[in-house]
Parts: sequence; C-alpha cells; structure tokens
Amino acid sequence: MDLNTITEVARRPSEHPAADWREGDAWLAGGTWLFSAEQPDLRRLIDLTALRWDPLVPGDKGLEIGATCTIRDLYAFACPGDWTAGPLITASCEAFLSSFKVWNAATVGGNICMSLPAGPMITLTVALEATYELWAPDGSTRTVEALAFVTGDHRNVLTPGEVLRRVRIPAHALRKRAAHRRFTLTRLGRSTVFLIGTQTPGGNDLLLTVTAGTTRPVQLAFDTLPDAPGLQQGIDAIPSDVWFADPNGTPDHRRHLTTYFAEEIRRELMDGDPS
Ligand SMILES: Cc1cc2nc3c(=O)[nH]c(=O)nc-3n(C[C@H](O)[C@H](O)[C@H](O)COP(=O)(O)OP(=O)(O)OC[C@H]3O[C@@H](n4cnc5c(N)ncnc54)[C@H](O)[C@@H]3O)c2cc1C
Repeated sequence: MDLNTITEVARRPSEHPAADWREGDAWLAGGTWLFSAEQPDLRRLIDLTALRWDPLVPGDKGLEIGATCTIRDLYAFACPGDWTAGPLITASCEAFLSSFKVWNAATVGGNICMSLPAGPMITLTVALEATYELWAPDGSTRTVEALAFVTGDHRNVLTPGEVLRRVRIPAHALRKRAAHRRFTLTRLGRSTVFLIGTQTPGGNDLLLTVTAGTTRPVQLAFDTLPDAPGLQQGIDAIPSDVWFADPNGTPDHRRHLTTYFAEEIRRELMDGDPS
C-alpha cells in the first residue's frame, strides 16, 4: 500500500544508523508488514537492507544472523553436520504463513521486531538460547536474551531509535537434540501453537519453549526430564493472562494444545537415542 505520510526514504543510511534516528522514523527491512498497513505516524523510512550486513556467519561459537538476513537465505543455509538442532531452522522458516513476496523479502530481524505471537523467528531463536545485539541512538550497544525481548503481542523491549543488529545462536544449543510441534487451523495457516523442546546430547534435561499460543514466549527449564504430571504442573503455572486469543484459537484451546504437544515432545526426547 502507498504510505502517503512518508516524505523521505534514507536509502544510504550511515554505518551506525541509529545515530541518525528521529521521531517519525521507522527502520525498513523487508517492508512486508510496513507496507501492509497504514502508518500515519511515520515520516521517514530508513532502509536497513542498504547496509549489506552479513546475513549468516557460522563459526566455532555458533551462528550469527544479521538482522536483515531474509527468511529465504536462512532457509537455504546448510548447517554443519554436528548442529543436530539445525532442522529447527527449516521447520521455523516453513512455519511462516507467507506469500511469495513475504518469503523472499521478509527478514529475520523484521520478524523478531514485529513481535507477533506467531513470529517463527522468535520461536527459533528463543528455543536455541540466542541473544540479540541492539544498537541505540547514543552509540551504545546492549545484548538481551531472546527470551526477554518480546514482552507481549506486538510489544518488545526496543526503546525509540534502537535497532536490532544481529542474533547470536550459541553452538552448544545448535548441538542439542530437538523436537517440535506446531498446530494451525488450516494447512498453510498461522501458528496457533508452536513448541520446541531441546535436550543436551547425552543429558536428561528439557528446555521447553512455548510460543504462538502465548502473547510472549514462555520457557520451562527442567534439569532432569519431568514426568507427565511434573510437565503439566509447569504448564499450569503459566499465568492465565499470557494465553493468546485471536481467530486462530481461544486461550483454552491453546492451553489444551500446549499440554498435549508438550507431552509428545517429552516422550519423543525420552524415547530418542540419548547420544
Ligand atoms: C501475507 C502475510 C503473511 C504474514 N505471515 C506472518 C506470520 O506467519 N508470522 C509473523 O510473525 N508475521 C507474519 N507477517 C507479518 C510480517 O510480514 C513478518 O513478521 C515479517 O517477518 C516482517 O519482516 P520484514 O523484514 O518484512 O519487516 P518490516 O515490514 O520491514 O518491518 C516490520 C517492523 O519491524 C521494524 N524493524 C524491522 N527490522 C528491524 C530491526 N533490525 N531493528 C528494529 N526494528 C526493525 C520495522 O520498523 C517495522 O516496525 C505476514 C505478513 C503478510 C503480509
């Protein structure tokens, strides 16, 4: 859609784009959401894609994802063989309810900063214990845990003018065993719930990440694999106002699905090869 309040597009932002930020600005990444809704408060768009940040930098410490990495490029990434959790990347990209345009243009950072409950890049990076590097207009940078970034439906910890620069996924998380479950009302629909469980290789722990069914990601960490009632207790402890309501599911439906799939994940990780 035409954004008729925009008077300027910064096509060549400075290396540290946050330094130029002023009221009425918005970071432009893939634009798949920005151009899909009226933006009456915006005057200028700052094109982050022009900065040509490295999309994907694998290394000994793990995987660094530039905020402007597209979903398409992340999907095409071939993980090293010992990154056992690598298939979660594929599953999370496929969880996108996306048209051709969204698939090719939407970015990892844009998806995270949109902070929608069904944001699959949020699910992925929270489950893989990622951190986000944020740049502020005063030149400072800070690192926040992915789990702490989204605070509610379309809400996050970004302060005015802050930009998400990169996501870091640690190697130890990429080497974990993983199981996931997702439910949608229609085959290509938006996620009603999206859960990921991970476990240290050779260990008996469980890190369960609950998203899409909740307004913000919720994580349940168990040092040893809980039994079914223990897991149920953890889910029951999720505050009632955190369950999300939209046309894809009521809070009760989402709690029910979460309980059901969490138990499936527990069993899958319990039964699987512990090596
Ligand atoms: C048909 C369709 C289907 C969709 N399906 C889904 C879905 O299944 N799940 C879902 O979560 N969303 C969905 N969306 C919403 C949206 O397209 C995605 O969330 C997408 O990933 C946004 O990424 P983008 O790069 O296009 O962001 P943009 O539209 O460019 O930006 C989105 C917002 O994030 C801000 N932003 C972007 N990058 C940064 C950054 N690096 N730092 C700080 N702020 C930044 C922008 O200023 C803007 O406010 C859908 C949209 C459409 C049109």
